Amino acid sequence: NTPALPPPAERVREALQATFGFSGFRGVQDQVVDRVLQGQSTLAVMPTGAGKSLTYQLPAVLLEGTCVVVSPLIALMHDQLRSARANGIRAATLTSVDADWRETLDAFRAGQLDLLYIAPERASQSAFRDLLSSTRISLFAIDEAHCVSEWGHDFRSDYRKLRPLLDAFPQVPRLALTATADHHTRKDILKQLGINDDGLIIAGFDRPNIRYAIRSQSGLDQQLQSVIEETPGAGIIYAPSRAKVEQLAEKLAKTTGRPVLPYHAGLPAEVRASNQAAFIASEDMVMVATIAFGMGIDKPDVRFVAHAGIPKSIEGYYQETGRAGRDGEPSLAIMFWSGQDFARARMRLAEVDEARQQSERQRLESLAGLIETADCRRAVLLRHFGEDPPAKCGNCDTCLEPVDVIDATTLAQKLLSAVYRTGQTYGLGHLEKVLTGVTDDRVLQRGHDQLSVFGILREEEKPILKALARALQARGSLVPTEHGGLALGGDAREILKKEAAVMIVRPPRKERGRRGRAAD
Ligand code: ADP
Ligand code: ZN
Repeated sequence: NTPALPPPAERVREALQATFGFSGFRGVQDQVVDRVLQGQSTLAVMPTGAGKSLTYQLPAVLLEGTCVVVSPLIALMHDQLRSARANGIRAATLTSVDADWRETLDAFRAGQLDLLYIAPERASQSAFRDLLSSTRISLFAIDEAHCVSEWGHDFRSDYRKLRPLLDAFPQVPRLALTATADHHTRKDILKQLGINDDGLIIAGFDRPNIRYAIRSQSGLDQQLQSVIEETPGAGIIYAPSRAKVEQLAEKLAKTTGRPVLPYHAGLPAEVRASNQAAFIASEDMVMVATIAFGMGIDKPDVRFVAHAGIPKSIEGYYQETGRAGRDGEPSLAIMFWSGQDFARARMRLAEVDEARQQSERQRLESLAGLIETADCRRAVLLRHFGEDPPAKCGNCDTCLEPVDVIDATTLAQKLLSAVYRTGQTYGLGHLEKVLTGVTDDRVLQRGHDQLSVFGILREEEKPILKALARALQARGSLVPTEHGGLALGGDAREILKKEAAVMIVRPPRKERGRRGRAAD
């Protein structure tokens, strides 16, 4: 494989038009395609629907040789295969359910394939490496690339085994694609796949037509009923369990008079298929579902997505709420959370193996930050995905409705200076001890009882420290270190100099009553 000159811009546009029928690129697509055509390895973080497939399919058509696409799910591969072939692209899959291996291998060896889809467990085998040596490879596209990172929400060990394959073809550029990657995961993907830091391209995540709202549960059935009654058009309600799905679907069908159907993996396949088809065809149906519902469903006019409980992570929240308003019309994303959700999530956390606990905990804390923030929800969301949004969006609950906020600036200064004075390496547990004046071995050993911040917390400040810490994490003034500690970030220095104020939502009474628990 010797590097060839990239095709000229006119040829790229022409292929975009001729093969895909698109008159132009969207968002960062052109940046990504540009890099790939120049042979530069890239990590593209693009939200669902932003058009990731094009960024490897177009180069696959333009470049000499075959683009090898690593993809984690057979169903996903076959979806892609169908749409690629529909565009006249020479594509094939090598999976356990394919009957045409012989033809595929022949075509591949003869250099007659633009795209070859393969699962990571097969791609990492040495037989596959040998196969690739038999012809020219134009590009490695690694779909759902967050699977390579333990920081990601969907780690798969087979993704880790891809590296030797990639390294065996050093001239072949790598294009890693993901819709969901926070800062840590991104850095990790770059490292694991051997892509330079300057190869990172992030697309805009904002969905301005979605109005975000987050409330705590109080009479959930009634709350959901009101959402349905106040929001004409189709909607999805995500519930945390199959039982809850069934119960809510039955109840809401009665109380709202709207067509309401259930969807979860426990229903017979034909029921799922017919409920899904009915939903897609309907203009006012409400689907009560587990998160099994939604992948690959193309319904542009979903007017609301409601969560009857917390999602798994901000990534999950973004993906699920992102199914609202694909047509660009005003839509609602509303979450009803309870303290129990957090209690349950924390219990599950204890069962996760050691290696993953830290990242899982981080994910939960970020979610708590989004839920508890008094700042703009959209700003918190977008910052989570690495953007630098305006402080207020004007289209979320915290921007539109006043919440019960308290000025926690002084307390924030105490916490931030404790972080600073202890060397920006400790977690909240230790910081809390220092601030409240607890003299345990660690505090004494490090001499933290000698610091000016030792024991400076007032009694009434103690119950809101945790909520404050999460709020500060949410706005980026406190950032996690790689070892689970906290460091100063964002506007921490302005807060310390009293140039910025910190307003937080007053934590619920329950939390204030039982100090030290995130919720419930
Ligand atoms: P992702 O994988 O990022 O979720 P897809 O690759 O499935 O997104 O693309 C989402 C939709 O956007 C598809 O229907 C696709 O045809 C369309 N699309 C992608 N790129 C463009 C473009 N440049 N112009 C118009 N439509 C596009
Ligand atoms: Zn806002």
